[in-house]
Amino acid sequence: MDEIVKGLIKDENVLVAAVNCTDTVEMSRKIHDTWPTATAAMGRVIAGALLLASTLKEKQKVMIQVKGDGPLQETVAESDWLFNVRSYVKRPHIYMGLKDEKIDVGRAVGKGFLNVIRDLGLREFYQSSVALQTGEIATDLAYYLNVSEQIPSAVSLGVYIDEDNSVKAAGGFMIQTMPQTKSEIIDFLERKLQRCHSSSSMILQGLDPLQMLEEATGLPIEILQRSKVVYNCPCSKDRVIRAVITLGKYEIEEMIREGKTIQIECYFCKKKYELTVDELKSILRDI
Ligand SMILES: [Zn+2]
Repeated sequence: MDEIVKGLIKDENVLVAAVNCTDTVEMSRKIHDTWPTATAAMGRVIAGALLLASTLKEKQKVMIQVKGDGPLQETVAESDWLFNVRSYVKRPHIYMGLKDEKIDVGRAVGKGFLNVIRDLGLREFYQSSVALQTGEIATDLAYYLNVSEQIPSAVSLGVYIDEDNSVKAAGGFMIQTMPQTKSEIIDFLERKLQRCHSSSSMILQGLDPLQMLEEATGLPIEILQRSKVVYNCPCSKDRVIRAVITLGKYEIEEMIREGKTIQIECYFCKKKYELTVDELKSILRDI
């Protein structure tokens, strides 16, 4: 079962979170029909969005968007504060082979930006961006947290893909120090993390998120929150109608003139919605 754990290193000012999102990433692979390199990039972005979501307050959402000049072009994942997550990949059919026996996500992403968009409720959105450092996502997300949010952070994200292209393990962890964290603890964690196994191999070994954190830090963890993670898209016909309204009167009149039922597909879950000419006319009347 997919799960996220948020906690503190006992008696130390270090915030930690870890997630196993294997089933969620596999579900997303099936929805988007991704090939291995795209699956790995998408899975890392999903795990990253879930880790960022562990810092949200009620009713908030966070989205990570990775945009590069490589063949993948754009990969997005969004999670709300309850860890309902959804994702979108612009170019799902990407497989670029291995580099040092690992999936070469960095080359598939290329150079570009990592954007983090926080929806803090009350119609407020905050977007911040950093240039991609490696395109491997975990280093880019750590760079974002260190530079843009000024929180010293270490991030590990990993996806292991089986021979049949299904997702066998996906998840990650995040470790964040605070201004009060003792320098001995920071040094200890830095040394420990250099020798630490990848998050996907920890999941393959059967470790749950709490055990991943204990393994990564070598220290006892005090759990603050333990939650389920699910792939869940909140799209609905109402939301589709609201999106159509934002196109403006002229566009809607054009659609009515064409005289056909229009089909709109959700980017995130591929669900299809239909709007008949009569429905378009009533939308136009309500504007
Ligand atoms: Zn949807």
